[in-house]
Amino acid sequence: MCLLIAIEGIDGSGKGTQAAKLHAYLLARGRKSALLSFPRYQQTQFGLKIGEFLNGKFGTLETVHPLLASLLFAGDRFESRELIEQTIASHEIVVFDRYVASNVAHQGAKSKGQERTKLIEWILHLEHTIYQLPHAHRNLFLDINVPLAQQLIAAKSKRDYTEKSADLQEADTDYLHQVRSVYLELATGPNWTTIPCESPHGLRTIDEIAADIVATVESLAGAL
Ligand code: ADP
Repeated sequence: MCLLIAIEGIDGSGKGTQAAKLHAYLLARGRKSALLSFPRYQQTQFGLKIGEFLNGKFGTLETVHPLLASLLFAGDRFESRELIEQTIASHEIVVFDRYVASNVAHQGAKSKGQERTKLIEWILHLEHTIYQLPHAHRNLFLDINVPLAQQLIAAKSKRDYTEKSADLQEADTDYLHQVRSVYLELATGPNWTTIPCESPHGLRTIDEIAADIVATVESLAGAL
């Protein structure tokens, strides 16, 4: 069996950093690990459109209905399904830097109550039932407060899909708060582990956070 680990969290929470570190750690321990990052901005047709969406080409965050936005992110994974399946077939562990839960958290953030619940059900149905994408065995939620995440986004180097220092989503503080609130809700679920990025002294170091992630993944991988 191949263990599927998804690294999740709001923009700037350190997903890319931690996914790469976990993958490198697993390789160094002799595990057959693979790393897949979503969205695949430059590799899929849907990914290219996601880049345009995040640059505001189709309107503001409020004007693009979340159900329609969810199609782009699910489509990017659907277009990548063969890659996902081949990677799973040839590895022991696959680390996803964002996966299905990112679509749920980001689109769910744009509605509330019953409407949010229905939208989340629709996205999960689309990704897993219609597009037949495998479920992650564990989602690791990197929990960080929004102002701190925005500081990290500001310090981040240039991305390949935008000329801006923060894309449409990253620049919207209220939106990031809502995304975090959906993640906090999701993270109460059984296949979730919350990894705190802060201590009472402030932001934890990259290595401290990585150690928590490794401990969780080692305990899951031990059963392989
Ligand atoms: P994400 O993929 O969640 O958007 P990144 O991994 O790209 O986040 O991290 C955002 C920026 O913050 C990067 O420049 C990264 O080096 C830095 N960073 C991430 N985690 C930490 C941390 N714990 N302490 C200091 N800097 C961090």
